Amino acid sequence: MSEQSDLAQVTRLVGERREAYLGRLADYVRLPSVSAVGGEPVRAAGVQIRDVLRSGGFDARLHETAGQPVVVAHRGGARDRPHVLIYGHYDVQPPGEDELWDSPPFEPAVRGGRMFGRGTADNKGQHLAHVIATELLVELAGELPCPVTFVLDGEEEVGSPHLDQAVRELRAELATADLVIVSDGPTARDDRLDLVYGLRGILAFELTATGADRDLHSGHYGEIPPNPLWTLVHLLASMKDEAGNITIDGFGELATPLPEREQAAIAALEPDPAQLLASIGAPRLAPAPVAGVARRQMARPTLTINGLHGGYGGPRNKTVLPHQALAKCDIRLVDGQDADTAWELVQAHVRRHAPDVTATWHGAMHPARTPMDTPYAAAVAGGIRGATGQEPVHRPTMGGSLPMWVFTRTLGLPALVLPLGNVDQANHAPNENLALDRFYQGIAVSASILLALARS
Ligand SMILES: [Zn+2]
Repeated sequence: MSEQSDLAQVTRLVGERREAYLGRLADYVRLPSVSAVGGEPVRAAGVQIRDVLRSGGFDARLHETAGQPVVVAHRGGARDRPHVLIYGHYDVQPPGEDELWDSPPFEPAVRGGRMFGRGTADNKGQHLAHVIATELLVELAGELPCPVTFVLDGEEEVGSPHLDQAVRELRAELATADLVIVSDGPTARDDRLDLVYGLRGILAFELTATGADRDLHSGHYGEIPPNPLWTLVHLLASMKDEAGNITIDGFGELATPLPEREQAAIAALEPDPAQLLASIGAPRLAPAPVAGVARRQMARPTLTINGLHGGYGGPRNKTVLPHQALAKCDIRLVDGQDADTAWELVQAHVRRHAPDVTATWHGAMHPARTPMDTPYAAAVAGGIRGATGQEPVHRPTMGGSLPMWVFTRTLGLPALVLPLGNVDQANHAPNENLALDRFYQGIAVSASILLALARS
């Protein structure tokens, strides 16, 4: 059968089976696999998707880790075709306050062409679309057009602390992959899918300062013990200047420049800054040493103070000298800025500028990069065109972070991110949802990509 007619058949079957597929997504979303809480409910989701893969003819198992298991599943296909590894995660974010949801987070509900529920888009619906695509291809042709491996993480929402170790243990069966596809996150715009080649890394940490062992009267004790809030204000000011440069000693030198092709692609994606500012209700751009917004999102590191806490914040005033202060921070890392080295530099900077301050590590991911001229990108883009009629938007980098480095760095494989979810999926927020047409389209896109890769 030709690729075109296979794809047409996939689309027809998806159309006929919409209700059944929705039911399967609902069954999966109903499991409250919140990795921040952990325990049996998370594992149960891993078991469920392992069994789904098994009934689809995959050789699927749980690979145990010190945390939640990684689901690993293989199914053959013509062996001389590219071997595709699809990464996703079966854990979900905590739902947050129930009152903020229009329907309970773990009782999936369909309204206005969307399914609402924690994990619908992030990430159960997105990898389930790939799983269903493989079932359809096998049903139509008796076998997959190319070998496919699924790696489904149970701890992505807590920073994938055991994924790298698991991937190292599974190296013999994973390193034979030719290409990794990760479907996570929303697309940047409604009308076209994104194909993303790189991710910024992240380093999350906390700075704590203490003064006396109790809060004191600012008149009687001001300037006697150090004020921990001033200590943090000065330390933070030494880490980033008013022009927006990160001034952590040695940090800037780590970054490596992007190749010309990537730089040109970033320039071509420059949004209208006025429109962007209006969309987020901000009066102006933050100071930064580069022109343009796209470069800030894709080619620059950021240091963000996520929270600064200490002292009195109640009504009127209280003339108190606080005894403790805390800053939560994250740094988004770009090419060359290895997360371990960045953390050493942060600690050394703190020791030098504020030796009394304690720096605590809260997790990290390295940046990841796959060159835009990677051999399989053209086939993947062709598959997307085949299913959607539109060329994807080729993005050198996504501003956020995913554990893609485990594949690019540990296994040395090219990896592409292909978000299948809608722009307004509200991942990590109340009323998370997946647009149903995106879910169905995702199945067709996945099938189309596997067919295109097999032909490449
Ligand atoms: Zn997430």
